[in-house]
Amino acid sequence: MSNGIQGKVVVITGASSGLGEATARLLASRGARVFLGARRTDRLSAVVEDIQRAGGQAGSRPVDVGKRREVEAFVQAAVEKFGRIDVLINNAGLMSIAPLAKAMVDEWERMIDINLKGMLYGIAAALPIFERQKGGQFINISSVAGLKVRSGNAVYAATKHAVRALSEGLRQEAGEGIRTTIISPGVVESELPLGSSDPESAAGVKELYRRQAIPADSVARAIAYAIEQPPDVDVNEIVLRPTVQEF
Ligand code: NDP
Repeated sequence: MSNGIQGKVVVITGASSGLGEATARLLASRGARVFLGARRTDRLSAVVEDIQRAGGQAGSRPVDVGKRREVEAFVQAAVEKFGRIDVLINNAGLMSIAPLAKAMVDEWERMIDINLKGMLYGIAAALPIFERQKGGQFINISSVAGLKVRSGNAVYAATKHAVRALSEGLRQEAGEGIRTTIISPGVVESELPLGSSDPESAAGVKELYRRQAIPADSVARAIAYAIEQPPDVDVNEIVLRPTVQEF
């Protein structure tokens, strides 16, 4: 009997590290055919090789989610390799923490480009495919910062609030057969803390992650739960935090 994951084609952006990599490994171990994208091709190839060595099915293609044509080509490449797409995980993200007064406008723009526009490009590329197939699932990675704002993370939180708003609109419009899941994690081990270039903020983020982070696999398991439900069950949002997290 199918486990709800076996054989599904799962396309993951930001799969070269952190949550995306952990999710690719977990889903492949449960029989999903995974297609990985990010900019660091050496890291993607290493994950794909590991999965294949363990008997799983995986492919990859470089993608910069800030570029619409690249996202379109990435999604198409997954269809060409595996014949269909069952799940798109819009996971690629950047967190640059700094007070607004520092006016780190280039980093604000990068967060909007990757966290929000990258997700929109993913939806634009996959929704017509899901409509044709009469089925599919979007899994959009928001954050606890999509539910709450904290001093220093205003722009990141704004992009993650936008991810939740966008996902809820998508859920309502997509209709029967297409599922939409928001995953909102708290502090999870990954390379995300490296995204803050303001030294003072970066030190605070690093210390927070050192004290509180739970393994990336905890998010991968939440994603697997959302995927493995029967087709008429749409897990709309999962919020998960380390037990020690206050925020
Ligand atoms: P990582 O920094 O480890 O992973 C981010 C991934 O996004 C990398 O694979 C990176 O790959 C990719 N990426 C970044 N920019 C681009 C781009 N322009 N085009 C394509 N891929 C890109 O952090 P996480 O695993 O933590 O982040 C994954 C998601 O989880 C993000 O959306 C993040 O906001 C969210 N999240 C994380 C939390 C945490 O505590 N870790 C908590 C809440 C949410 P590459 O550099 O090779 O392109």
